[in-house]
Amino acid sequence: MPIRTYKYRLSPTKAQMEKLEWTLIRCCELYNAALQERKEAWKYAHESMNFAGQCRSLTSIRNEIRQEYQEIGSHVLQNVLHRVDNAFKDFFRRVKAGEKPGYPRYQSVHRYDSFCFPDAAGWKIVNTRLQITNLGSIKVKWHRELQGKVKTTTVKREGSCWYVCFACEVEAMSRTPYTDETVGIDLGVSKLATLSTGDVIENPKHYRRAEKRLAKAGQALSRKKRGSHRRKKAVQRVAKLHRKVRNQRNDSLHQWSRRLIDTYEVIVFEDIAPANLSRRAKPKQDEETGQYLPNGASAKSGLNKSILDAGWHQFIMFCTYKVEETGGRVVLVDPKYTSQVCSSCGTVRKKALSQRWHSCECGCELDRDHNAAINIKALWFGRNRQEA
Ligand SMILES: [Zn+2]
Repeated sequence: MPIRTYKYRLSPTKAQMEKLEWTLIRCCELYNAALQERKEAWKYAHESMNFAGQCRSLTSIRNEIRQEYQEIGSHVLQNVLHRVDNAFKDFFRRVKAGEKPGYPRYQSVHRYDSFCFPDAAGWKIVNTRLQITNLGSIKVKWHRELQGKVKTTTVKREGSCWYVCFACEVEAMSRTPYTDETVGIDLGVSKLATLSTGDVIENPKHYRRAEKRLAKAGQALSRKKRGSHRRKKAVQRVAKLHRKVRNQRNDSLHQWSRRLIDTYEVIVFEDIAPANLSRRAKPKQDEETGQYLPNGASAKSGLNKSILDAGWHQFIMFCTYKVEETGGRVVLVDPKYTSQVCSSCGTVRKKALSQRWHSCECGCELDRDHNAAINIKALWFGRNRQEA
């Protein structure tokens, strides 16, 4: 059964926020202690610890050594040990595969930003609020309906905000009537996408406004002196705006991908990854804010582009996982020449990027992106024919 994650904003009181922070710090401590135990067991006794062994010592930690841990659900703490276990499993798997992975590392309290209820114990939804044992009931902003059976519940800190993420098992949906079987999609800059039907998906306006504010805040940040209090404030502001832009973008991408998979069986995208790798400088991210930094390339190919690419990737990803529910498919084709070839007669019509209209001697008159989207759709059929 497909798993879908629903994320909601929490509004904890000040006391609850302190308790949430406290819980994170305890979990982080436990994570590092479990890591240290494994390291030392190997170093001094050549023994390898496992998950079950560490879970057993958890009981004595809670009952004797550190009784404050009794305030945190035992399954939450076991989940912390699970994370350590996974880090080691991943490490050994990669060693086996001949890679050179880094040894599992200690986590800093700043980086350690979530704790997870792996089952139904320790939390409940009571009167639309999230009730956590020993923490009280927290207000939740239900911006969309929670569907399916909750498998895990994760409480997460992002900057100064708190969220709850429910991973739910959802029923495979019955398919809604399609208006067409296949659609080609050209991803754009000023508009998000153009479909082979000629429909256009605009970037949301408020998103563009927020993006502008983000750019401004980023400039302000770059003027502040390193290590200063003002810089710290500016970093927080940029991080907050960044989160806002990302959330707004994701909301609209969720809506559009939903609409697409409800309408079409096969969705054809251009494969944007290979072209990007060769042509563009790698985006650099600021460690403090997650904000994209200038990377030496021009603004258009660096900062703006990398944000755009993140949106495109996200869009394709959202469609890809949603399509699992309907049984349709998302496919990628090589986008080479899709904007140059005439979708009606196949002649190559060289165009500069600024030329927004496709006009061909065969009588084909189309918006440049619409023409490209039709070509992208046709490429998929071409490949099908070759396969058959
Ligand atoms: Zn033509």
